[in-house]
Amino acid sequence: MANSRLGMMGAPVIVLKEGTDQSQGTPQLLSNIGACMSIVTCVASTLGPRGMDKLIVNGRREATISNDGATILKLLEIVHPAAKTLVDIARAQDAEVGDGTTSVVLLAGEMLKECKPFIEEGVSPHTIIKGYRKAALLATQKIRELAVTIDKSDKAAFRDLLIKCAGTSMSSKLIVSQRPFFAEMVVNAVTMLDAEDLDESLIGVKKIPGGGMQDSMLVRGVAFKKTFAYAGFEQQPKSFTDPKILCLNVELELKAEKDNAEVRIDAVSEYQAIVDAEWQIIYSKLEAIVKTGAKVVLSKLPIGDLATQYFADRDIFCAGRVPADDMKRVIQAVGGQVQSTTSDISPHHLGSCGRFEEKQIGGERFNLFEDCKAAKTCTLILRGGAEQFIAEVERSLHDAIMIVKRAIKNNAVVAGGGAIEMELSRYLREYARDIKGKQQLIISAFAKSLECIPRQLADNAGFDATDLLNKLRMTHAQGHKWDGIDIDSEDVRDNMEQFVWEPALIKINAIGSAAEAACLILSVDETIKNEQSDM
Ligand code: ADP
Repeated sequence: MANSRLGMMGAPVIVLKEGTDQSQGTPQLLSNIGACMSIVTCVASTLGPRGMDKLIVNGRREATISNDGATILKLLEIVHPAAKTLVDIARAQDAEVGDGTTSVVLLAGEMLKECKPFIEEGVSPHTIIKGYRKAALLATQKIRELAVTIDKSDKAAFRDLLIKCAGTSMSSKLIVSQRPFFAEMVVNAVTMLDAEDLDESLIGVKKIPGGGMQDSMLVRGVAFKKTFAYAGFEQQPKSFTDPKILCLNVELELKAEKDNAEVRIDAVSEYQAIVDAEWQIIYSKLEAIVKTGAKVVLSKLPIGDLATQYFADRDIFCAGRVPADDMKRVIQAVGGQVQSTTSDISPHHLGSCGRFEEKQIGGERFNLFEDCKAAKTCTLILRGGAEQFIAEVERSLHDAIMIVKRAIKNNAVVAGGGAIEMELSRYLREYARDIKGKQQLIISAFAKSLECIPRQLADNAGFDATDLLNKLRMTHAQGHKWDGIDIDSEDVRDNMEQFVWEPALIKINAIGSAAEAACLILSVDETIKNEQSDM
Protein backbone atom coordinates (compact mmCIF):
# COMPACT_ATOMS: atom_id res chain seq x y z
CA MET A 1 0.00 0.00 0.00
CA ALA A 2 1.43 3.39 -0.91
CA ASN A 3 1.46 5.80 1.97
CA SER A 4 0.35 9.10 0.72
CA ARG A 5 -1.79 12.11 1.56
CA LEU A 6 -3.37 14.44 -0.95
CA GLY A 7 -1.50 17.72 -1.06
CA MET A 8 -3.02 21.19 -1.63
CA MET A 9 -2.99 20.80 -5.37
CA GLY A 10 -4.50 17.31 -5.20
CA ALA A 11 -1.15 15.67 -5.95
CA PRO A 12 -0.22 12.93 -3.49
CA VAL A 13 2.48 13.80 -0.95
CA ILE A 14 4.58 10.75 -0.11
CA VAL A 15 5.15 10.59 3.64
CA LEU A 16 6.53 7.12 4.20
CA LYS A 17 8.77 4.89 2.16
CA GLU A 18 7.23 2.67 -0.49
CA GLY A 19 6.42 -0.72 1.02
CA THR A 20 5.62 0.59 4.49
CA ASP A 21 2.73 -1.29 6.02
CA GLN A 22 0.25 0.43 8.26
CA SER A 23 -2.66 -0.92 10.25
CA GLN A 24 -4.54 1.06 12.83
CA GLY A 25 -7.55 1.56 15.05
CA THR A 26 -9.64 -0.90 16.99
CA PRO A 27 -8.98 -3.87 14.69
CA GLN A 28 -5.26 -3.39 15.30
CA LEU A 29 -5.79 -3.27 19.06
CA LEU A 30 -7.90 -6.41 18.96
CA SER A 31 -5.31 -8.17 16.84
CA ASN A 32 -2.58 -7.25 19.36
CA ILE A 33 -4.71 -8.62 22.20
CA GLY A 34 -5.23 -11.82 20.20
CA ALA A 35 -1.49 -12.22 19.70
CA CYS A 36 -0.82 -11.78 23.42
CA MET A 37 -3.45 -14.32 24.31
CA SER A 38 -1.89 -16.96 22.12
CA ILE A 39 1.37 -16.48 24.04
CA VAL A 40 -0.50 -16.95 27.28
CA THR A 41 -2.01 -20.23 26.09
CA CYS A 42 1.55 -21.41 25.52
CA VAL A 43 2.72 -20.99 29.10
CA ALA A 44 -0.54 -21.38 31.04
CA SER A 45 -0.27 -25.14 31.44
CA THR A 46 3.13 -24.81 33.15
CA LEU A 47 1.77 -22.93 36.18
CA GLY A 48 2.02 -24.41 39.63
CA PRO A 49 3.26 -27.61 41.23
CA ARG A 50 1.17 -29.72 38.85
CA GLY A 51 2.16 -27.71 35.78
CA MET A 52 3.49 -29.48 32.71
CA ASP A 53 6.88 -28.97 31.11
CA LYS A 54 7.45 -27.78 27.55
CA LEU A 55 9.90 -29.30 25.13
CA ILE A 56 11.30 -26.60 22.87
CA VAL A 57 13.44 -27.48 19.87
CA ASN A 58 15.36 -24.69 18.17
CA GLY A 59 16.63 -24.35 14.58
CA ARG A 60 19.77 -26.28 15.46
CA ARG A 61 17.64 -29.14 16.76
CA GLU A 62 18.75 -28.46 20.34
CA ALA A 63 16.04 -29.46 22.76
CA THR A 64 15.28 -27.76 26.07
CA ILE A 65 12.76 -28.97 28.61
CA SER A 66 11.53 -26.26 30.94
CA ASN A 67 8.57 -25.14 32.95
CA ASP A 68 9.81 -21.67 33.66
CA GLY A 69 7.79 -18.99 31.86
CA ALA A 70 10.72 -16.68 31.14
CA THR A 71 12.86 -19.48 29.70
CA ILE A 72 10.09 -20.80 27.46
CA LEU A 73 9.23 -17.38 26.05
CA LYS A 74 12.87 -16.57 25.44
CA LEU A 75 13.35 -19.80 23.48
CA LEU A 76 10.21 -19.30 21.40
CA GLU A 77 11.76 -16.35 19.55
CA ILE A 78 8.50 -14.45 19.31
CA VAL A 79 8.38 -11.90 16.49
CA HIS A 80 5.00 -10.24 17.01
CA PRO A 81 5.80 -6.72 18.21
CA ALA A 82 2.99 -6.49 20.77
CA ALA A 83 3.41 -10.03 22.05
CA LYS A 84 7.08 -9.27 22.65
CA THR A 85 6.00 -7.02 25.52
CA LEU A 86 4.94 -10.13 27.42
CA VAL A 87 8.32 -11.74 26.84
CA ASP A 88 9.93 -8.60 28.23
CA ILE A 89 7.84 -8.52 31.40
CA ALA A 90 8.57 -12.18 32.07
CA ARG A 91 12.26 -11.46 31.70
CA ALA A 92 12.07 -8.37 33.89
CA GLN A 93 10.18 -10.27 36.59
CA ASP A 94 12.85 -12.97 36.51
CA ALA A 95 15.66 -10.44 36.77
CA GLU A 96 14.05 -8.33 39.48
CA VAL A 97 12.51 -10.87 41.82
CA GLY A 98 13.52 -14.23 40.36
CA ASP A 99 10.12 -15.91 40.41
CA GLY A 100 6.51 -15.54 39.36
CA THR A 101 7.37 -15.39 35.65
CA THR A 102 4.52 -17.58 34.47
CA SER A 103 2.08 -15.75 36.73
CA VAL A 104 3.00 -12.33 35.38
CA VAL A 105 2.38 -13.37 31.75
CA LEU A 106 -0.86 -15.08 32.68
CA LEU A 107 -2.13 -12.04 34.56
CA ALA A 108 -1.27 -9.62 31.75
CA GLY A 109 -3.02 -11.87 29.20
CA GLU A 110 -6.10 -12.22 31.36
CA MET A 111 -6.30 -8.47 31.97
CA LEU A 112 -6.30 -7.96 28.21
CA LYS A 113 -8.89 -10.67 27.69
CA GLU A 114 -11.23 -9.15 30.26
CA CYS A 115 -11.13 -5.72 28.63
CA LYS A 116 -11.61 -7.01 25.09
CA PRO A 117 -15.45 -6.69 25.23
CA PHE A 118 -15.09 -3.04 26.25
CA ILE A 119 -12.83 -2.33 23.30
CA GLU A 120 -15.25 -4.05 20.97
CA GLU A 121 -18.05 -1.87 22.31
CA GLY A 122 -16.01 1.23 21.59
CA VAL A 123 -14.88 2.21 25.10
CA SER A 124 -11.78 4.37 24.86
CA PRO A 125 -8.60 2.52 25.79
CA HIS A 126 -7.71 5.48 27.98
CA THR A 127 -10.71 4.86 30.20
CA ILE A 128 -9.62 1.24 30.60
CA ILE A 129 -6.01 2.21 31.28
CA LYS A 130 -7.14 4.63 33.99
CA GLY A 131 -9.25 1.96 35.66
CA TYR A 132 -6.53 -0.69 35.47
CA ARG A 133 -3.88 1.63 36.90
CA LYS A 134 -6.15 2.49 39.80
CA ALA A 135 -6.98 -1.19 40.43
CA ALA A 136 -3.29 -2.22 40.30
CA LEU A 137 -2.43 0.48 42.81
CA LEU A 138 -5.21 -0.62 45.15
CA ALA A 139 -4.18 -4.28 44.80
CA THR A 140 -0.50 -3.66 45.59
CA GLN A 141 -1.42 -1.49 48.58
CA LYS A 142 -3.69 -4.27 49.82
CA ILE A 143 -0.89 -6.85 49.51
CA ARG A 144 1.35 -4.69 51.71
CA GLU A 145 -1.48 -4.42 54.22
CA LEU A 146 -2.22 -8.17 54.26
CA ALA A 147 1.37 -9.47 54.21
CA VAL A 148 2.37 -11.43 57.29
CA THR A 149 5.71 -10.61 58.90
CA ILE A 150 7.81 -13.57 59.98
CA ASP A 151 9.22 -13.28 63.50
CA LYS A 152 12.91 -14.17 63.41
CA SER A 153 13.98 -12.79 66.78
CA ASP A 154 13.70 -16.09 68.65
CA LYS A 155 16.25 -18.33 66.87
CA ALA A 156 14.99 -21.66 68.25
CA ALA A 157 11.36 -20.88 67.45
CA PHE A 158 12.32 -19.71 63.94
CA ARG A 159 14.22 -22.96 63.36
CA ASP A 160 11.19 -24.97 64.45
CA LEU A 161 9.10 -22.94 62.05
CA LEU A 162 11.52 -23.68 59.19
CA ILE A 163 11.41 -27.40 59.97
CA LYS A 164 7.62 -27.25 59.90
CA CYS A 165 7.74 -25.35 56.59
CA ALA A 166 10.03 -27.95 55.03
CA GLY A 167 7.99 -30.83 56.48
CA THR A 168 4.69 -29.52 55.16
CA SER A 169 6.03 -29.28 51.64
CA MET A 170 6.82 -32.98 51.82
CA SER A 171 3.35 -34.02 52.88
CA SER A 172 2.28 -35.11 49.41
CA LYS A 173 5.61 -36.59 48.37
CA LEU A 174 7.20 -40.01 48.44
CA ILE A 175 9.45 -39.08 51.35
CA VAL A 176 6.53 -38.42 53.67
CA SER A 177 7.36 -41.49 55.78
CA GLN A 178 10.76 -39.96 56.65
CA ARG A 179 9.47 -36.41 56.98
CA PRO A 180 11.17 -35.35 60.28
CA PHE A 181 14.52 -36.74 59.08
CA PHE A 182 14.49 -34.94 55.73
CA ALA A 183 12.97 -31.71 57.09
CA GLU A 184 15.83 -31.45 59.57
CA MET A 185 18.34 -32.24 56.84
CA VAL A 186 16.96 -29.55 54.51
CA VAL A 187 16.98 -26.88 57.22
CA ASN A 188 20.53 -27.82 58.20
CA ALA A 189 21.61 -27.65 54.55
CA VAL A 190 20.13 -24.21 53.94
CA THR A 191 21.41 -22.75 57.21
CA MET A 192 24.91 -24.00 56.36
CA LEU A 193 25.00 -21.65 53.38
CA ASP A 194 26.19 -18.10 53.52
CA ALA A 195 23.29 -16.18 55.07
CA GLU A 196 23.89 -13.21 52.76
CA ASP A 197 22.92 -14.79 49.45
CA LEU A 198 21.69 -18.33 50.32
CA ASP A 199 22.76 -19.62 46.92
CA GLU A 200 21.07 -23.01 46.66
CA SER A 201 23.38 -23.99 43.80
CA LEU A 202 26.05 -24.43 46.49
CA ILE A 203 24.06 -27.35 47.86
CA GLY A 204 25.45 -30.26 45.87
CA VAL A 205 23.46 -33.45 45.42
CA LYS A 206 25.01 -36.88 44.93
CA LYS A 207 22.81 -39.85 44.30
CA ILE A 208 23.91 -43.34 45.27
CA PRO A 209 21.49 -46.15 44.52
CA GLY A 210 21.24 -48.72 47.27
CA GLY A 211 20.46 -48.61 50.96
CA GLY A 212 17.36 -47.03 52.44
CA MET A 213 16.47 -43.38 52.14
CA GLN A 214 17.18 -42.89 55.83
CA ASP A 215 20.84 -43.70 55.02
CA SER A 216 21.00 -40.37 53.16
CA MET A 217 23.32 -37.87 54.77
CA LEU A 218 24.42 -34.29 54.74
CA VAL A 219 28.10 -33.40 54.37
CA ARG A 220 29.24 -30.00 55.60
CA GLY A 221 31.22 -29.27 52.49
CA VAL A 222 31.93 -30.95 49.17
CA ALA A 223 31.75 -34.65 48.46
CA PHE A 224 32.50 -36.43 45.24
CA LYS A 225 32.81 -39.96 44.07
CA LYS A 226 36.21 -41.40 43.42
CA THR A 227 36.15 -42.55 39.84
CA PHE A 228 39.40 -44.44 39.58
CA ALA A 229 41.61 -46.35 42.02
CA TYR A 230 45.18 -47.34 41.24
CA ALA A 231 47.67 -49.62 42.94
CA GLY A 232 49.17 -47.76 45.87
CA PHE A 233 45.68 -46.68 46.76
CA GLU A 234 45.57 -48.97 49.82
CA GLN A 235 48.64 -47.32 51.30
CA GLN A 236 47.17 -43.84 50.85
CA PRO A 237 46.34 -41.80 53.94
CA LYS A 238 42.56 -41.62 54.33
CA SER A 239 41.97 -38.55 56.48
CA PHE A 240 43.50 -35.23 57.47
CA THR A 241 42.73 -32.32 59.72
CA ASP A 242 43.34 -28.88 58.21
CA PRO A 243 45.05 -30.14 55.03
CA LYS A 244 46.32 -27.91 52.25
CA ILE A 245 44.67 -28.87 48.97
CA LEU A 246 46.21 -28.58 45.53
CA CYS A 247 44.04 -28.82 42.42
CA LEU A 248 45.79 -29.56 39.15
CA ASN A 249 45.16 -29.94 35.48
CA VAL A 250 48.38 -31.91 35.06
CA GLU A 251 48.93 -35.48 33.95
CA LEU A 252 51.00 -37.52 36.40
CA GLU A 253 51.24 -40.78 34.50
CA LEU A 254 54.06 -42.49 32.64
CA LYS A 255 53.45 -43.41 29.01
CA ALA A 256 54.17 -47.02 29.92
CA GLU A 257 51.24 -46.93 32.36
CA LYS A 258 48.84 -46.01 29.59
CA ASP A 259 46.91 -48.62 27.70
CA ASN A 260 47.70 -47.63 24.13
CA ALA A 261 51.00 -45.80 24.41
CA GLU A 262 53.14 -45.99 21.28
CA VAL A 263 56.73 -44.79 20.92
CA ARG A 264 58.55 -45.11 17.56
CA ILE A 265 62.35 -45.34 17.71
CA ASP A 266 65.20 -46.43 15.45
CA ALA A 267 67.58 -47.93 17.99
CA VAL A 268 67.06 -49.76 21.29
CA SER A 269 69.37 -47.35 23.12
CA GLU A 270 67.01 -44.49 22.29
CA TYR A 271 64.25 -46.28 24.14
CA GLN A 272 66.21 -46.25 27.40
CA ALA A 273 66.92 -42.53 26.91
CA ILE A 274 63.21 -41.81 26.44
CA VAL A 275 62.26 -43.81 29.50
CA ASP A 276 64.92 -42.09 31.62
CA ALA A 277 63.81 -38.65 30.44
CA GLU A 278 60.20 -39.45 31.21
CA TRP A 279 61.01 -40.65 34.72
CA GLN A 280 63.03 -37.54 35.29
CA ILE A 281 60.19 -35.28 34.19
CA ILE A 282 57.59 -37.00 36.31
CA TYR A 283 59.86 -37.06 39.37
CA SER A 284 60.57 -33.36 39.04
CA LYS A 285 56.83 -32.69 38.86
CA LEU A 286 56.16 -34.89 41.91
CA GLU A 287 58.93 -33.24 43.90
CA ALA A 288 57.56 -29.79 43.07
CA ILE A 289 54.13 -30.86 44.28
CA VAL A 290 55.43 -32.34 47.54
CA LYS A 291 57.35 -29.12 48.18
CA THR A 292 54.14 -27.06 48.13
CA GLY A 293 53.12 -28.74 51.38
CA ALA A 294 49.80 -29.97 49.93
CA LYS A 295 48.32 -32.97 51.73
CA VAL A 296 45.56 -33.57 49.20
CA VAL A 297 46.35 -33.49 45.48
CA LEU A 298 43.55 -33.59 42.91
CA SER A 299 43.92 -33.57 39.17
CA LYS A 300 41.46 -33.46 36.31
CA LEU A 301 43.92 -35.64 34.36
CA PRO A 302 45.11 -39.13 35.28
CA ILE A 303 47.44 -39.73 38.22
CA GLY A 304 49.17 -43.07 37.61
CA ASP A 305 50.53 -45.90 39.78
CA LEU A 306 53.96 -44.43 40.19
CA ALA A 307 52.67 -41.03 41.33
CA THR A 308 50.07 -42.55 43.65
CA GLN A 309 52.72 -44.69 45.36
CA TYR A 310 55.12 -41.73 45.53
CA PHE A 311 52.50 -39.60 47.26
CA ALA A 312 51.37 -42.44 49.55
CA ASP A 313 54.98 -42.89 50.75
CA ARG A 314 55.03 -39.20 51.69
CA ASP A 315 51.67 -39.28 53.47
CA ILE A 316 49.86 -37.40 50.73
CA PHE A 317 46.43 -38.27 49.34
CA CYS A 318 45.84 -37.99 45.61
CA ALA A 319 42.98 -38.51 43.16
CA GLY A 320 43.12 -38.24 39.39
CA ARG A 321 40.43 -37.95 36.72
CA VAL A 322 38.29 -35.70 38.91
CA PRO A 323 35.30 -34.56 36.79
CA ALA A 324 35.36 -30.85 35.91
CA ASP A 325 32.21 -29.91 37.81
CA ASP A 326 33.40 -31.66 40.98
CA MET A 327 36.71 -29.86 40.68
CA LYS A 328 34.87 -26.57 40.27
CA ARG A 329 32.88 -27.14 43.44
CA VAL A 330 36.02 -28.11 45.37
CA ILE A 331 37.78 -24.92 44.28
CA GLN A 332 34.72 -22.86 45.13
CA ALA A 333 34.62 -24.39 48.60
CA VAL A 334 38.26 -24.72 49.61
CA GLY A 335 39.74 -21.79 47.68
CA GLY A 336 42.91 -21.71 45.58
CA GLN A 337 43.20 -22.10 41.81
CA VAL A 338 43.53 -25.01 39.42
CA GLN A 339 47.16 -25.17 38.25
CA SER A 340 48.17 -26.29 34.77
CA THR A 341 51.85 -26.60 35.56
CA THR A 342 53.82 -27.72 38.62
CA SER A 343 56.71 -25.34 38.11
CA ASP A 344 55.24 -22.21 39.56
CA ILE A 345 52.97 -23.05 42.48
CA SER A 346 52.79 -20.54 45.33
CA PRO A 347 50.92 -20.87 48.64
CA HIS A 348 47.93 -18.80 47.51
CA HIS A 349 47.23 -21.35 44.77
CA LEU A 350 46.40 -23.93 47.45
CA GLY A 351 43.07 -24.25 49.21
CA SER A 352 42.27 -25.68 52.62
CA CYS A 353 39.47 -27.25 54.61
CA GLY A 354 38.86 -28.21 58.23
CA ARG A 355 38.74 -31.93 57.56
CA PHE A 356 39.33 -34.25 54.63
CA GLU A 357 38.30 -37.88 54.56
CA GLU A 358 37.92 -40.72 52.12
CA LYS A 359 34.96 -42.81 53.09
CA GLN A 360 33.01 -45.79 51.81
CA ILE A 361 29.34 -44.95 51.30
CA GLY A 362 27.30 -47.84 49.95
CA GLY A 363 29.24 -49.37 47.10
CA GLU A 364 31.22 -46.22 46.33
CA ARG A 365 34.24 -44.48 47.76
CA PHE A 366 33.73 -40.79 48.45
CA ASN A 367 36.15 -37.96 49.06
CA LEU A 368 34.68 -35.57 51.62
CA PHE A 369 35.93 -32.04 52.21
CA GLU A 370 34.31 -30.64 55.34
CA ASP A 371 34.35 -27.19 57.02
CA CYS A 372 35.60 -25.50 53.89
CA LYS A 373 37.28 -22.16 54.26
CA ALA A 374 36.38 -20.24 51.09
CA ALA A 375 32.65 -20.78 50.71
CA LYS A 376 29.92 -22.28 52.78
CA THR A 377 28.70 -25.25 50.82
CA CYS A 378 27.20 -28.59 51.65
CA THR A 379 26.31 -31.79 49.83
CA LEU A 380 23.31 -34.02 50.17
CA ILE A 381 24.16 -37.66 49.65
CA LEU A 382 20.93 -39.39 48.76
CA ARG A 383 20.35 -43.12 49.07
CA GLY A 384 17.45 -45.24 47.97
CA GLY A 385 16.33 -48.37 46.21
CA ALA A 386 16.05 -47.23 42.60
CA GLU A 387 17.44 -44.36 40.60
CA GLN A 388 14.01 -42.97 39.72
CA PHE A 389 13.15 -43.08 43.38
CA ILE A 390 16.23 -41.09 44.36
CA ALA A 391 15.49 -38.60 41.57
CA GLU A 392 12.05 -38.06 43.08
CA VAL A 393 13.61 -37.60 46.54
CA GLU A 394 15.91 -34.99 45.02
CA ARG A 395 12.99 -33.07 43.47
CA SER A 396 11.08 -33.10 46.75
CA LEU A 397 14.12 -31.90 48.68
CA HIS A 398 14.67 -29.16 46.12
CA ASP A 399 11.13 -27.85 46.65
CA ALA A 400 11.63 -27.94 50.41
CA ILE A 401 14.98 -26.14 50.08
CA MET A 402 13.34 -23.37 48.05
CA ILE A 403 10.56 -22.98 50.62
CA VAL A 404 13.01 -22.78 53.53
CA LYS A 405 15.15 -20.32 51.59
CA ARG A 406 12.15 -18.10 50.94
CA ALA A 407 11.13 -18.16 54.57
CA ILE A 408 14.64 -17.11 55.63
CA LYS A 409 15.08 -14.45 52.95
CA ASN A 410 11.71 -12.77 53.08
CA ASN A 411 10.24 -10.94 55.99
CA ALA A 412 6.81 -10.50 54.53
CA VAL A 413 4.80 -13.32 52.96
CA VAL A 414 1.32 -13.93 51.64
CA ALA A 415 -0.42 -17.25 51.02
CA GLY A 416 -0.05 -18.78 47.53
CA GLY A 417 -2.11 -21.32 45.64
CA GLY A 418 -4.39 -18.53 44.44
CA ALA A 419 -5.23 -17.34 47.98
CA ILE A 420 -3.84 -13.82 47.68
CA GLU A 421 -5.33 -13.37 44.20
CA MET A 422 -8.79 -14.43 45.42
CA GLU A 423 -8.57 -12.06 48.37
CA LEU A 424 -7.50 -9.15 46.16
CA SER A 425 -10.28 -9.99 43.72
CA ARG A 426 -12.85 -9.92 46.52
CA TYR A 427 -11.47 -6.63 47.83
CA LEU A 428 -11.53 -4.93 44.40
CA ARG A 429 -15.06 -6.10 43.63
CA GLU A 430 -16.20 -4.68 46.92
CA TYR A 431 -14.39 -1.44 46.19
CA ALA A 432 -15.93 -1.22 42.72
CA ARG A 433 -19.44 -1.54 44.12
CA ASP A 434 -19.18 1.94 45.61
CA ILE A 435 -18.04 3.76 42.49
CA LYS A 436 -20.08 4.85 39.54
CA GLY A 437 -19.88 4.74 35.77
CA LYS A 438 -17.61 2.73 33.51
CA GLN A 439 -14.82 2.60 36.09
CA GLN A 440 -16.97 0.24 38.16
CA LEU A 441 -17.07 -2.25 35.30
CA ILE A 442 -13.38 -1.87 34.54
CA ILE A 443 -12.20 -2.38 38.10
CA SER A 444 -14.50 -5.41 38.32
CA ALA A 445 -12.91 -6.74 35.12
CA PHE A 446 -9.46 -6.34 36.71
CA ALA A 447 -10.75 -8.16 39.81
CA LYS A 448 -12.03 -11.01 37.64
CA SER A 449 -8.73 -11.28 35.78
CA LEU A 450 -6.91 -12.04 39.05
CA GLU A 451 -8.93 -15.24 39.37
CA CYS A 452 -6.98 -16.70 36.45
CA ILE A 453 -4.24 -17.86 38.84
CA PRO A 454 -6.37 -20.17 41.05
CA ARG A 455 -8.35 -21.25 37.97
CA GLN A 456 -5.22 -22.26 36.08
CA LEU A 457 -3.73 -24.01 39.14
CA ALA A 458 -6.93 -26.05 39.44
CA ASP A 459 -7.06 -26.78 35.70
CA ASN A 460 -3.46 -27.91 35.65
CA ALA A 461 -4.10 -30.28 38.54
CA GLY A 462 -7.09 -31.72 36.70
CA PHE A 463 -9.62 -30.31 39.18
CA ASP A 464 -13.05 -28.80 38.48
CA ALA A 465 -11.99 -25.15 38.36
CA THR A 466 -15.49 -23.65 38.30
CA ASP A 467 -16.52 -25.55 41.37
CA LEU A 468 -13.34 -24.65 43.30
CA LEU A 469 -13.57 -20.98 42.34
CA ASN A 470 -17.14 -20.83 43.58
CA LYS A 471 -16.03 -22.38 46.86
CA LEU A 472 -13.15 -19.91 47.14
CA ARG A 473 -15.40 -16.91 46.43
CA MET A 474 -17.70 -18.11 49.19
CA THR A 475 -15.02 -18.75 51.83
CA HIS A 476 -13.31 -15.43 51.07
CA ALA A 477 -16.62 -13.63 51.45
CA GLN A 478 -16.88 -15.31 54.86
CA GLY A 479 -13.53 -13.84 55.87
CA HIS A 480 -11.16 -16.77 55.24
CA LYS A 481 -8.61 -14.55 53.56
CA TRP A 482 -5.89 -17.16 53.08
CA ASP A 483 -8.01 -19.88 51.49
CA GLY A 484 -6.52 -21.17 48.25
CA ILE A 485 -6.37 -24.31 46.14
CA ASP A 486 -5.43 -27.52 47.94
CA ILE A 487 -3.26 -29.12 45.33
CA ASP A 488 -3.21 -32.50 47.09
CA SER A 489 -6.93 -33.09 47.31
CA GLU A 490 -9.50 -31.41 45.12
CA ASP A 491 -10.53 -28.83 47.70
CA VAL A 492 -9.76 -25.47 49.24
CA ARG A 493 -7.67 -24.93 52.38
CA ASP A 494 -5.90 -22.25 54.42
CA ASN A 495 -2.62 -22.03 52.55
CA MET A 496 -0.98 -19.82 55.16
CA GLU A 497 -1.30 -22.66 57.69
CA GLN A 498 -0.03 -25.11 55.07
CA PHE A 499 3.10 -22.98 54.51
CA VAL A 500 2.29 -22.39 50.84
CA TRP A 501 3.95 -19.01 51.16
CA GLU A 502 4.84 -16.51 48.51
CA PRO A 503 7.02 -13.50 49.19
CA ALA A 504 4.83 -10.39 49.14
CA LEU A 505 7.39 -8.70 46.91
CA ILE A 506 6.90 -11.25 44.11
CA LYS A 507 3.15 -10.69 44.06
CA ILE A 508 3.47 -6.89 44.20
CA ASN A 509 5.89 -6.95 41.30
CA ALA A 510 3.83 -9.45 39.27
CA ILE A 511 0.55 -7.53 39.54
CA GLY A 512 2.23 -4.16 38.97
CA SER A 513 4.13 -5.24 35.85
CA ALA A 514 1.23 -7.25 34.41
CA ALA A 515 -1.03 -4.18 34.66
CA GLU A 516 1.66 -1.96 33.14
CA ALA A 517 2.14 -4.36 30.22
CA ALA A 518 -1.60 -4.56 29.62
CA CYS A 519 -1.86 -0.75 29.67
CA LEU A 520 1.05 -0.47 27.28
CA ILE A 521 -0.58 -2.82 24.78
CA LEU A 522 -3.90 -0.98 25.14
CA SER A 523 -2.25 2.33 24.37
CA VAL A 524 -0.99 1.11 20.99
CA ASP A 525 -3.53 1.47 18.20
CA GLU A 526 -1.23 1.59 15.25
CA THR A 527 1.60 -0.59 14.01
CA ILE A 528 3.75 0.78 11.23
CA LYS A 529 5.91 -1.83 9.69
CA ASN A 530 8.73 -0.64 7.51
CA GLU A 531 10.36 -3.71 6.02
CA GLN A 532 12.85 -1.68 4.08
CA SER A 533 14.08 0.32 7.02
CA ASP A 534 17.64 -0.56 7.89
CA MET A 535 17.18 0.56 11.49
P1 ADP B 1 5.76 -18.93 38.43
O1 ADP B 1 6.75 -18.98 37.32
O2 ADP B 1 4.70 -17.89 38.19
O3 ADP B 1 6.36 -18.83 39.81
P2 ADP B 1 5.14 -21.65 39.12
O4 ADP B 1 4.98 -22.73 38.12
O5 ADP B 1 6.34 -21.64 40.00
O6 ADP B 1 4.99 -20.29 38.34
O7 ADP B 1 3.84 -21.66 40.01
C1 ADP B 1 3.63 -20.77 41.05
C2 ADP B 1 2.21 -20.86 41.54
O8 ADP B 1 1.96 -22.14 42.13
C3 ADP B 1 1.95 -19.82 42.60
O9 ADP B 1 0.73 -19.20 42.40
C4 ADP B 1 1.96 -20.65 43.88
O10 ADP B 1 1.17 -20.06 44.87
C5 ADP B 1 1.41 -21.95 43.42
N1 ADP B 1 1.82 -23.06 44.30
C6 ADP B 1 3.08 -23.46 44.57
N2 ADP B 1 3.09 -24.50 45.45
C7 ADP B 1 1.80 -24.77 45.72
C8 ADP B 1 1.13 -25.72 46.55
N3 ADP B 1 1.80 -26.62 47.26
N4 ADP B 1 -0.20 -25.70 46.59
C9 ADP B 1 -0.91 -24.80 45.86
N5 ADP B 1 -0.33 -23.88 45.06
C10 ADP B 1 0.98 -23.85 44.99
